[in-house]
Amino acid sequence: MLRRYLVPFKAHRCPQVLTDVLVIGGGVAGLRASMAAARYGDVLLVTKEKLSESNTYYAQGGIATVMQAQDSFESHIRDTMTAACGLGELAAVETVVKEGPDCIRELLEWGTNFDREGDGALSFTREGGHSAARIVHALGDATGRELAMSLGRRARAHNQIEILEYTYVLDLVTFEGACIGAIAWQKKRGIFLILARKTLLASGGAGMLYRETTNPAVATADGHAMAYRAGAIVRDMEMVQFHPTTIYIAGATRALVSEAVRGEGAKLIDKNGHRFMPDYHPSGELAPRDVVSRAIVAQMARTHSTHVFLDARHLSEAAFRDRFPGIYQMCMSFEINPSKQPIPVHPSAHYMIGGVVTDLLGRTNVANLYAIGEASYTGLHGANRLGSNSLIEALVFGKRAGQDAGERLSDDHGQSLVAPRLTADIPPSPRTELDTADVRSSLRSLMWRNVGIERVGPRLEESKEIIAFWSRYVMDKIFDAPPGWSLQNMLEVCALIAASAAFREETRGVHYRTDFPETDNAHWQKHIDLCVTSPLPILTPVGS
Ligand SMILES: Cc1cc2nc3c(=O)[nH]c(=O)nc-3n(C[C@H](O)[C@H](O)[C@H](O)COP(=O)(O)OP(=O)(O)OC[C@H]3O[C@@H](n4cnc5c(N)ncnc54)[C@H](O)[C@@H]3O)c2cc1C
Repeated sequence: MLRRYLVPFKAHRCPQVLTDVLVIGGGVAGLRASMAAARYGDVLLVTKEKLSESNTYYAQGGIATVMQAQDSFESHIRDTMTAACGLGELAAVETVVKEGPDCIRELLEWGTNFDREGDGALSFTREGGHSAARIVHALGDATGRELAMSLGRRARAHNQIEILEYTYVLDLVTFEGACIGAIAWQKKRGIFLILARKTLLASGGAGMLYRETTNPAVATADGHAMAYRAGAIVRDMEMVQFHPTTIYIAGATRALVSEAVRGEGAKLIDKNGHRFMPDYHPSGELAPRDVVSRAIVAQMARTHSTHVFLDARHLSEAAFRDRFPGIYQMCMSFEINPSKQPIPVHPSAHYMIGGVVTDLLGRTNVANLYAIGEASYTGLHGANRLGSNSLIEALVFGKRAGQDAGERLSDDHGQSLVAPRLTADIPPSPRTELDTADVRSSLRSLMWRNVGIERVGPRLEESKEIIAFWSRYVMDKIFDAPPGWSLQNMLEVCALIAASAAFREETRGVHYRTDFPETDNAHWQKHIDLCVTSPLPILTPVGS
């Protein structure tokens, strides 16, 4: 049912743009990679909306890094491997932890304003699952905004980097097994071909696949979908992390209330005022995210409520406002004063752990294609992600991949970029049109209900069938604008998530099966790999 390309085209007839390195995505991963690659050649960075519209921009809590004397690499590695629940890849964890501090020092040199203590030293906070205060943050609770703005300024000023905003990438183009760039679309220009020697996929996450999410509208998993169509292996797609505390006000967007608020001592209480987290886990509110999310769901069910509350009344209004200015403003816009009233919260889809498999240089199994940031699977997070570990992963692997892509440009030095005689034909569809807006919203509800925080075999099977039904009507259509292409990508990736979730008959990390509530290392301490060329999921041992 899955076709190779979303639209028909003839590569040699398309309008063309040539570049040494194409970077798809302008979040922290794409920006950091562009800077590294631009030392070796021309970089074209494309984003589907304006540059600042990314998960990166909305990151609140901070970046995990070992830079204090009382902390250690071993401790950060141990915490990350513990959270990863047996699927963490030690080599990736060591790489990120050990190279992280240099990435932070670079950001400081480039003018990123991290928060500081009164004596001028960097300010560090602690988050759930971390055994030391090792999270640097900026603008109180707007770390992502500061990171996106400072990296964005630097990339825009670089004469080897060109940024094309409002440019939607539909597909990676492959020829003779290697990636040669991408098919893209702009409103004024229509469809065009970007020919590149190296392509870096930095297209971010998948939160929009779920009805409740902390992610902005751009996070529709386009990169996962296009890489899968191009033959890249995607791994552990069932691993979707839910954030326990997003503000819950009917009709309002699900804005995140950062884990750092719990790090600063806020407690979770139910509608009866009972502090329930110690009933579920000895670390209470600082237990790993999946544990807190499930405890909230259980407590909501127990108290017949749609939400619980985050109680930060131990902080004075001034203290809360100074430490969490963004969250303070957001709460106040709903007439909730967090120093006087508990904040209504419930869980939402937050971070896509599964992604395109890469090696330690960001390389995928498709020649000349790299994947970085949330679109990738390096093995750092395994089956669960420690808070504040993703921005540092994107920085470290963005830099590594950009540098490797740049260094390898000389492999084919002197060869000119020429579009091959490649034709993508798509026969017209005989099927009835479905209302795509309706399918999109029903799909997101289905994923939330059946492929969300708690999963069970029969409902996963039912979801696979419903997604396959919608796919039959949507996947063979030819759309002419991003909403249709995004829906096709969403259906494709939802099918991958549901298939992996049904296949993994155990509970591990963020993947919780009520019908298989135990972790089963004997059978399942393995990655689940999916590839378009393989009809069945492939089990890959950890560390191989
Ligand atoms: C609310 C929130 C708070 C968070 N807080 C933290 C935190 O405190 N610490 C932490 O470590 N992590 C945090 N995270 C996670 C972290 O922000 C992300 O994992 C990280 O920013 C991902 O970076 P990225 O560069 O991979 O992708 P993104 O920043 O999401 O960028 C993706 C880019 O790809 C582009 N793109 C996507 N599809 C296409 C397409 N088809 N064509 C062209 N361009 C495309 C988008 O336009 C965008 O530019 C948070 C996430 C959210 C949503």
